[in-house]
Amino acid sequence: VSAKILDGKILAAQVKEGIKTDAVAAKREAGRDIRIVSVLVGDEECALKYADAQKKVADEIGIIYDLARFPQDVTQADLQAAITQLSRDPTTTGVMVHKPLPEKINEQAVFNCIDPLKDIEGMNAKNIGNIVLGRGQILPCTAAAVMEHLKAAGIALRGKEAVVVGASEIVGKPLALLLLQEMATVTVCHIATTEAGKLKDHVRRADVVVVAVGRPNLITGGMIKDGAVVIDVGMNHVDGKMVGDVEFETVAPKASMMTPVPGGVGPVTVMMLMRNAIEAFRLQQQQESS
Ligand code: NAD
Repeated sequence: VSAKILDGKILAAQVKEGIKTDAVAAKREAGRDIRIVSVLVGDEECALKYADAQKKVADEIGIIYDLARFPQDVTQADLQAAITQLSRDPTTTGVMVHKPLPEKINEQAVFNCIDPLKDIEGMNAKNIGNIVLGRGQILPCTAAAVMEHLKAAGIALRGKEAVVVGASEIVGKPLALLLLQEMATVTVCHIATTEAGKLKDHVRRADVVVVAVGRPNLITGGMIKDGAVVIDVGMNHVDGKMVGDVEFETVAPKASMMTPVPGGVGPVTVMMLMRNAIEAFRLQQQQESS
């Protein structure tokens, strides 16, 4: 048996059609544009390419996408002041920040400068906190993309064993909360789980495994329960190729469904950013008219 491949490009294309319609309707109703400001510090080629790809998708949907660039040596104070100002600009619908920021920059302090209603990556402390309370409105894009994949694949999560490998603020932690919200029994593994030699024990019990670590081949077929659903968030560059965290060849024969890398979670993540921009736009309209 070989796993059914959950094709992120197909899912993204489907999601995009809905988003396009929503964008047209929202803009018509409000009589103004939806505009994303994308903050990029430094000139990392990967980040620039990613911004280009995002802009292309935004263009297709009818969302304005402007890049705001800052030098690599920008200070914390200057970056925060600039982002606060961009966020306050009434023509700005949403602000996003390319990661990683330079090491000396406190990322969370930067995210917290974005108005929670304009925080289209869902990284402001208020938006993160709302997920804990089960009323998240703007969800972190990657975690939302994983949930979108599971939903599209028709996976019922209630009572299932879900194991999240990776516990970052941006992916693993919010994802664990979203899975919990769907009534899965959630286990979160991280570097210390591996150090303690326990990773395999946990992953082997999982009906659904989501891996967001950034380590090629961390998860191999021997760790996977027969019939498990495996979602690979990892993006690693190895010998000029992009690979995930899951060893595809050994896991595919064991899993019932799995996402490929590239072309799994990534394409859907971009769509979640666009969906968040439209949601932010709506929330701002509501606030203005209340
Ligand atoms: P991160 O570095 O912030 O966090 C990594 C997490 O993995 C940490 O919790 C750490 O404890 C854990 N970890 C590290 N080594 C481990 C090991 N050997 N065993 C178990 N756990 C281990 O990373 P991140 O920002 O969450 O990103 C994770 C991966 O997902 C990266 O490859 C990144 O490129 C990718 N990513 C993909 C998308 C997408 O849209 N597909 C979006 C964001 C991040």
